[in-house]
Amino acid sequence: MIEKRQFYINGTWVDPIAGRDHHVIDPSTEEPCAVISLGGQADTDAAVAAAKAAFPDWMATSPDDRIALVEKLLEVYKSRSEEMAQAMSLEMGAPIDMSRSSQVGAGTYHIQNFIDAARNFEFDRPLNDQSPNDRIIYEPVGVCALITPWNWPMNQVTLKVCAAAIAGCTMVLKPSEESPLNAMLFAEMMDEAGFPAGVFNLINGDGAGVGSQLSAHEDVDMVSFTGSTRAGKLISKSAADTLKRVHLELGGKGANLIFADADDKAVKRGVMHMMQNTGQSCNAPSRMMVEAPIYDDVVDQAGEIAAQVSVGPASAEGRHIGPVVNATQWQKIQDLIQKGIDEGARLVTGGTGRPEGLNKGFYVRPTVFADVTNDMTIAREEIFGPVLSIMKFETEDEAVRIANDTPYGLTNYVQSQDGARRNRLARSLRSGMVEMNGQSRGAGAPFGGMKQSGNGREGGVWGIEDFLEVKSVSGWSPE
Ligand code: NAD
Repeated sequence: MIEKRQFYINGTWVDPIAGRDHHVIDPSTEEPCAVISLGGQADTDAAVAAAKAAFPDWMATSPDDRIALVEKLLEVYKSRSEEMAQAMSLEMGAPIDMSRSSQVGAGTYHIQNFIDAARNFEFDRPLNDQSPNDRIIYEPVGVCALITPWNWPMNQVTLKVCAAAIAGCTMVLKPSEESPLNAMLFAEMMDEAGFPAGVFNLINGDGAGVGSQLSAHEDVDMVSFTGSTRAGKLISKSAADTLKRVHLELGGKGANLIFADADDKAVKRGVMHMMQNTGQSCNAPSRMMVEAPIYDDVVDQAGEIAAQVSVGPASAEGRHIGPVVNATQWQKIQDLIQKGIDEGARLVTGGTGRPEGLNKGFYVRPTVFADVTNDMTIAREEIFGPVLSIMKFETEDEAVRIANDTPYGLTNYVQSQDGARRNRLARSLRSGMVEMNGQSRGAGAPFGGMKQSGNGREGGVWGIEDFLEVKSVSGWSPE
């Protein structure tokens, strides 16, 4: 079994001061695959102290020097991508081919986008042409605590670490205790890239321990958190006493509006997006809303497509979905599927229990419900498993009302050939992102939500700005 009990603090791997052992479970087998240490207050204090001590010098470096280090990181990241794919696949269950392409690829993509955004970012600029003595200076916020989830590990880690580093912040990363191995490998890469000691630190811990110690810490200037809305609320409360900046990327319950004039791949796209990463994506299009004239046909199609999705272990090559991350998630999903049945939704395919032939491992049957109404539990709660809810709507207004009737507001989706309608919906859907006709948002586009999906914007220029303070100066001397 892998043993990785140390933390990366002040440029070196150190033994925990107040650590206790924690087993990382391989979700494909339910067996422990690694042992790490969960830190305590003394470890949190040591990591924060290292970040605080490194801040003045790091802040004073030029953006060009910081960009050069991130470029070096990208090189190292690419050269060790197979190790990274294996780590994520083992600890959170992403099938190995998907781990190599999408999970590792998300990191490559974000690092490159930050480099591109940073090259054109003016850290220091005049207020406007009329005010030559006014200057706007963007400065790093300071010491940042970065708290990340297990579902898209490198996506989250690179979105935070690289933006913070380019902004000139120093940081303590606390990855999810469910999937710490990828982040520890990433710490090795930061070291290999040559970041100065103390700029980047990593400690492992759970939410109640290191997570809340970081949120409440007097010497932490900002918490950047991605995870559940539940934890986001707790973090906001524990950060309140120190009035630190709190950046939140939380859960979602995306609506996917399919109009009668949608293209013929729209349903397949919607189902496959829901099933991707075994439904464990904050931006999953989990409420498929279908215009009445095509409703019955879409339900049949969606059921057939989902029934063909195969499920298998993370180590097997090929296009299947893996297990969900742990026993708690598995049980939660089972309970929600049962609730869907009990509350009167129509089970089209899937259901409770493991898929046939899989008796061990946290495997879930790809499931589709039809005739769901928006007051049902499966339409309101983030299930975080391969479970799609299909609903019917009659008019565009009704579709918008139902789509917006949720505490979440991360990503909504629209499928229609009518450009004017798409543009109207882009404005009326209350979410940080609206994706239409299967077109991905461009490189460097901001990722983030409204309402209880959070308040941060990650990626590209917006991601860098989240880690910056704006300083307004008068009496500037134009040299
Ligand atoms: P989680 O909230 O349980 O844990 C996320 C991280 O927060 C972990 O590192 C955990 O240890 C830590 N944590 C938990 N409680 C804490 C507390 N009280 N104080 C400080 N830290 C605490 O979430 P998860 O189960 O790991 O991830 C799934 C959730 O993440 C889903 O709700 C998903 O939608 C969300 N998510 C959101 C985005 C986004 O960008 N909006 C992206 C990915 C995942």
